[in-house]
Amino acid sequence: MFFKFQIIRYWLLIRFRKPRSKTALQKLQKKNWHKFQQVLLRSPFYRDKVQENTPLAAYPLMNKASFMKQFDQINTQNIRVDEAYKVAQEAEKSRDFSPEINHITVGLSSGTSGNRGIFLASQKERAFWVAAVLDRVIGFSLKKRSVAFFLRANSNLYSSVKSRILSFAFFDLYDALAQHVSRLNALQPTILVAQPSMLLDLAQEVKAGRLQIHPQKIISVAEVLYPEDKAVLEATFGQTIHQVYQCTEGFLASTCAYGTLHFNEDFLIIEKKFLDESKTRFHPIITDLKRSSQPIVRYELNDIIQEKTDCPCGSPMMGIAQIEGRADDVLVFKNVEGQTIKIYPDFFRRAIIAADAAIQDYTLVQRNAHLLELYIQGTEEHFQKAKRNIDALLNKYQAKAVTIIRTTIKHHEQGNKLRRIKYEKN
Ligand SMILES: [Zn+2]
Repeated sequence: MFFKFQIIRYWLLIRFRKPRSKTALQKLQKKNWHKFQQVLLRSPFYRDKVQENTPLAAYPLMNKASFMKQFDQINTQNIRVDEAYKVAQEAEKSRDFSPEINHITVGLSSGTSGNRGIFLASQKERAFWVAAVLDRVIGFSLKKRSVAFFLRANSNLYSSVKSRILSFAFFDLYDALAQHVSRLNALQPTILVAQPSMLLDLAQEVKAGRLQIHPQKIISVAEVLYPEDKAVLEATFGQTIHQVYQCTEGFLASTCAYGTLHFNEDFLIIEKKFLDESKTRFHPIITDLKRSSQPIVRYELNDIIQEKTDCPCGSPMMGIAQIEGRADDVLVFKNVEGQTIKIYPDFFRRAIIAADAAIQDYTLVQRNAHLLELYIQGTEEHFQKAKRNIDALLNKYQAKAVTIIRTTIKHHEQGNKLRRIKYEKN
């Protein structure tokens, strides 16, 4: 019961202290940063910084590698990384989804094998997370609702939202689509949460008449939601597709009533590391003022973000026009002079979908500086049109000697994240 009180308390805080202006937002961030010093004092890695009264901008920049390397020193719970990995991996293998060390939940991120991050969450942090999700994503209501939640692996972070008025049904991404369809038809979820690739599969089932559900809200998670996929989903389900931007490092952003993602700047500080001269794309550097067992300070994500500055909702929190993919989705070529050329995945996406309105399903995989594998669901003509557009793009950037071959295999394994454009060496 105590856990529920914590959730309600946090929810009230989040709900009624929501800043309405940039000034109010900065004031709140300043206050929370000050409070956060108490947490950092408990971290062997950050203690000195607090004692020296270091401003945030002078804290070291972290990334996944440096963070995992310093894991033992950063966390405030005296938990060792090898111990945390062991517990999390055993739980995943046995599908026992509530691994804990000293009452701290341990989770594994869904990265590629060998590169998976660990997250720790105390009960307090879980209560805050649930409150934030209730406020920003699910919406607070006293009506009985069911949530269909597609996951690669469950975690007691998610099942902790469970209550009498909110029931969670967990769908394992590795199960067969037909099984999902019959379960969904029986469940009739109020809220559907899934990866866009799964939502697209479900949309096909809706079109075929096999799936008949009428959720009040659909939320896309975990993968990049491409604008054209969003359009297909919105047309099929007849509603706005909402999004949650969440990763191991925290609950980062969610959509407003207009469907625009906004960073949760009321408890996060977002710095931008610009990637291009025109300053349109950046990697977010996040500081999470509400984490305590594993402080996240100036942590650079490798997602590529385009900012949106004109959302009609008027929120002072930073809007996101698009999450383009990750830094390793940027394709890399050579020009005539042998210089390296980087082209963002969004340019390829646009080139492919602009080729023909019938092209909806595709993947483009770069194998090396001279080879691209293009999968197009459609005819040879569709493939040729898409290939022509990609060639034109490569010419524009003066990328030299690139061959585009057609592949009949879509690069997407069941249960894995769909990345339509990526660099993946053979
Ligand atoms: Zn908005």
